[in-house]
Amino acid sequence: MNVGVLALQGDFREHISALGDCGVTGKLVKTAADIAAIDALIIPGGESTTISKLAKAFGLFDLISKRISEGMPTYGSCAGMILVAKTILDPASDQDTFGGIDMEVRRNAFGRQTESFEVDLDFKTISGAPIRGVFIRAPWVESHGSQVEILSSVEISGVQHPVAVRQGSVLATAFHPELTGDNRVHRYFLEDVCKK
Ligand code: GLN
Repeated sequence: MNVGVLALQGDFREHISALGDCGVTGKLVKTAADIAAIDALIIPGGESTTISKLAKAFGLFDLISKRISEGMPTYGSCAGMILVAKTILDPASDQDTFGGIDMEVRRNAFGRQTESFEVDLDFKTISGAPIRGVFIRAPWVESHGSQVEILSSVEISGVQHPVAVRQGSVLATAFHPELTGDNRVHRYFLEDVCKK
């Protein structure tokens, strides 16, 4: 299986390295030919407005959107979660998403860069020690359709906000497992989401 990492902007190198820890050589995806050659895609953290603008400028936007809608296994972290959402609550002007998960996300939901934080998370499909969630200007899922499975949430003032979700072949986390050296979320993507 050829697993690509969208390499327009953001922390794509960290995802390549997390894949490497799982024994998979990830491919950097920058062109239409790269998209045609992959079986699964990771959309990294970074800045979703920039990634969507560059994807449009390089003629990749519709190709990625089409592959995701056809069932290509896809994992988006943070900015990547925003890009696989059906709708963004507070988009930058002309910001579009690739789609993939029937959810509405709120960008920068936890606050600004200075309010970035880390917390231990229960992750439904991953047993053992909690998953360390690194949240950097992270989104949360504000609402979602009935097909969306919630894998992890963060409680703020008594309200649960989903921060890891899956719909069929598309997985998204508001946090960055690629920054922690713990590759269990990547393994879950490779061994479960990609195999379905
Ligand atoms: N807030 C960023 C956005 O809107 C995401 C931040 C991140 O990926 N760490 O894209």
